[in-house]
Amino acid sequence: MKYNILGSSSKGNSIIVEDILCLDFGISYTKIKDYLSKVKLIFISHIHKDHLNPAAIKQLAYNFPNMKFLTGSKAVVGRLVELHVSKKNIFYIDTSKGNNWFDLGLISVKLEPLAHDVENYCLHFDIHGKKGIYIVDTNNVDNINAKNYDLFLVENNYQESVLKRHIQECVDEGQLRYLNRVPHTHLSAEKANTFLIENMGSNSEFCYIHQSSYNFEGEDYNGNI
Ligand SMILES: [Zn+2]
Ligand SMILES: [Zn+2]
Repeated sequence: MKYNILGSSSKGNSIIVEDILCLDFGISYTKIKDYLSKVKLIFISHIHKDHLNPAAIKQLAYNFPNMKFLTGSKAVVGRLVELHVSKKNIFYIDTSKGNNWFDLGLISVKLEPLAHDVENYCLHFDIHGKKGIYIVDTNNVDNINAKNYDLFLVENNYQESVLKRHIQECVDEGQLRYLNRVPHTHLSAEKANTFLIENMGSNSEFCYIHQSSYNFEGEDYNGNI
């Protein structure tokens, strides 16, 4: 599957898949606007600003008044409406009624809840018969199944041993408070790799996303993503 990572870190997240599906809208409008002409649907995983950039959404709502949004979070629906997205353009899936696939025409989707400090969802998507999954900002992926999918976009935020050492070493109060949050709200390299090994087939492709360079050592860090 074709994908284009425009941003993937705590500084801002946005990935375009097969030109038509946008995963999160957490970067500036200037950086994303040239990629929107074929986009049919924007998925917003959760309300944090690195996934839902308020200024960018406002500009989008003005320039693309018919753009469709997808979310499982009522808080996200409320925020989008505040930012002038028309309610009729927001497709809200209530996962308490079960985790089912929805056929939206060009794209089929399924949402599942993740473990973050606000309501957050992963997205399973099927475009032209190819399946992918987008998982970001979660403590674990324990109940998620994506056997033999074509594309895995999976958070790989920190190495457990490196983060543990940083937490021990850390004397700065403010930073310690931030670091203490990370193991509860983000996915470690170890958990991401276990999930990938269990789910990937011989034709699957993967990309690590939402990495924090500070909590990585060695070659496992991909760079700026
Ligand atoms: Zn994030
Ligand atoms: Zn978050």
